[in-house]
Amino acid sequence: MKITLPGSKETLPVGKILCIGRNYAKHAAEMQSDVPGEPMVFLKPSTAIVRSGGVVVLPKQSKDVHHEVELVAVIGKGGRNIPEDEALHHVSAYAAGLDMTARDIQSKAKANRHPWSVAKGFDTFAPLGPLTPADQVGDPQQMEVSVTVNEETRQNGRTADMIFSVAYLVHYTSTIFTLEPGDLIYTGTPDGVGPVEDGDVAEARVSGCAPLRVRMSRELD
Ligand code: MN
Repeated sequence: MKITLPGSKETLPVGKILCIGRNYAKHAAEMQSDVPGEPMVFLKPSTAIVRSGGVVVLPKQSKDVHHEVELVAVIGKGGRNIPEDEALHHVSAYAAGLDMTARDIQSKAKANRHPWSVAKGFDTFAPLGPLTPADQVGDPQQMEVSVTVNEETRQNGRTADMIFSVAYLVHYTSTIFTLEPGDLIYTGTPDGVGPVEDGDVAEARVSGCAPLRVRMSRELD
């Protein structure tokens, strides 16, 4: 999967997809989870990307796939050990995203203390909206993040309620992984997550960014 960064004519492959769990207190509470003391990071494969207008495949291995609407920060300039006060200069675009989650598989993984890679990593489980240049979006901590399913609002949160800011997440993840252009950070979901069904249309919105629209389609046996 390739993307085009704002201000660039070249396409580049999507790199690492870094995702942050439990970055809003109300979502942590609805999952009966504690608020973490430092960011909880997991990864998705680049094959999970699907762009706006595409189809999310509900896999036959799961009977309970949930939407999680998230602000996505797109890394345009790489680095390692990026200071927090320089971090936003490394973000070249923002987008609306969905962290699709096979909740039944995730619950089993949690109970067995297994990783979340399967629950979070199926093909098409990382819908990504159009990239909007960062300088057109403004302060990433002053955005509204929402999703409708079949035009009914399911989640509606504010990035001001994030536990760890976008700048801190760029800094923090860069102390672990060298960040590269084309890496994506899915910054966590507000409360209100819930299931989607075959034929549902989800529209994810982040203020200042173009909307992301995807249709759900159940995989046939
Ligand atoms: Mn999430």
